[in-house]
Amino acid sequence: MKMGLMSLPRTPEESILFAKENGFNHVEVDLFKHPLERFSTERIKKIVKLSEENQVSLSVHTPYSMNPAERFSTIREAYKLYFLKAIEFTSAINGKWLTIHLGYHIGFPRDKFKAFKRTKQFIEEMLVHCDKKKVPLAIENVNPMPMNGELFYIGDSIAELKELFESWNSEYAKFCLDIGHAHTAEGVVQYVNAFKDKLVGIHVHDNHGEQDEHLGVGEGNIDWKTVLHSLKKVKNDVPLNLEIYDDKLKIKSKNIIEKILEETE
Ligand SMILES: [Zn+2]
Repeated sequence: MKMGLMSLPRTPEESILFAKENGFNHVEVDLFKHPLERFSTERIKKIVKLSEENQVSLSVHTPYSMNPAERFSTIREAYKLYFLKAIEFTSAINGKWLTIHLGYHIGFPRDKFKAFKRTKQFIEEMLVHCDKKKVPLAIENVNPMPMNGELFYIGDSIAELKELFESWNSEYAKFCLDIGHAHTAEGVVQYVNAFKDKLVGIHVHDNHGEQDEHLGVGEGNIDWKTVLHSLKKVKNDVPLNLEIYDDKLKIKSKNIIEKILEETE
């Protein structure tokens, strides 16, 4: 399986060169750390050239703070404009897919279904543009938030994601498996089995099963052997993108993964 990394904390340009130097084949451009507003047409051209020269493929991640479930329509419309720009940007840099989070509900848990409906509608509209631009939209599974809090993510369970996928009628509605997030929810293998047919992207990081931590591979308690084995069996061609910040930890994690993959030949 190929290895990739998120452009964190480096710029996409630096990340492509880092990927090339260290044997990675893919970079996911993170638009939270590197906002869309910073990419001129000129810069986009240079990134495409750099990606081609170094044979490092690209994908894009919208800022995780954006909320397709936003209650107020004026603000929700602004998010739509940003999403449309992100779809255009993904197409312009020859990105293989655009990863998104489905947003969040603030309030009583019993009212989450209203936010869920808004997200469903929002993504349906975005998929029309994805179809036109031929940009796969990779919906990422997220970590469940504590029930005694006030903020709840959309897309934090297999059941919720299944319902959404069943409602969208587009071949561009795809899935990004976040291994760390799945480990804090029903379990990684369960997510692999549920959405293997839609899988286009993978985020790799570790935790202790309680909360999102973005640790290096082996620093938490994910059973990497089982996880990598199950992924290799169902989808061999999706790059394993490290969503880890420290450079040394990225290389260490890559080495651990490659060793496990060799052993499961
Ligand atoms: Zn992720």
